[in-house]
Formats: sequence, C-alpha cells, structure tokens
Amino acid sequence: MPHLPKARRRRYLPERKREPTGDQRFYNSTAWRKTSRSVRQRQPLCEVCTAIDQVAVADVTDHIIAREDGGADYDPRNLMAMCAYHHNRKSALEGQGLELDSKRTMSGRVPVDRDEVIKVLT
Ligand SMILES: [Zn+2]
Repeated sequence: MPHLPKARRRRYLPERKREPTGDQRFYNSTAWRKTSRSVRQRQPLCEVCTAIDQVAVADVTDHIIAREDGGADYDPRNLMAMCAYHHNRKSALEGQGLELDSKRTMSGRVPVDRDEVIKVLT
C-alpha cells in the first residue's frame, strides 16, 4: 500500500508583535508630535529651501544634531523645519559621517551655527 507522507499541518501562529525601538517610541510620543507640529506651525516652510529662495512645505522636523549623537530632543535650537528632500539628503550625509559643530547644553547637544546645515545642504 502506497504510503503518503502525512500532510504537514500549517501552524498559524499569531505574528509576534515587535517591541518598538527606543527611536520609534520617541517619534510616536505625544511630546514629540506636539513639539514637531509646533516647530512647523511657526516655520511652515523648509528652512533650507527658504535660504536658497525656494519654497517647499516643511514635511518634517529635523534634529540638527542627531539624537544618536546626543542632540537635544526638544530644544528649539536643535530643531529645524525641512522638506522631505532636504531631510533625506541630510540623513544620507549623516550616513556618510557628516559632522556639524555642536555644543553641549543642559538639554543635550545643539548646533553652534544652524546656518552650517544650510551650507552643507545647498
Ligand atoms: Zn527643502
């Protein structure tokens, strides 16, 4: 008598929920959403575009000195309204080792000269 292998029963396990990373938890927090929104209410246009006489809506609030480099989370001196293009461009440069002059403050690192970002990106 032919013998067929037993059909493997497929197990449908509930997908394991991934724990959000610290970064995701920060960016999803009410405190950050409020801060980000208020930065872009005050400055609804990309600050880099504006500096080169272009106009683009600010899609994101950027940490000028990245959080992972000790950049201040909520200090307005470390926050800049940016369009997606300039934010992505800056992130790419950071991936290549971009380093901006920064100083340590009570709230974390902030840039010494925010115009340095504009110079680097334009
Ligand atoms: Zn821009």
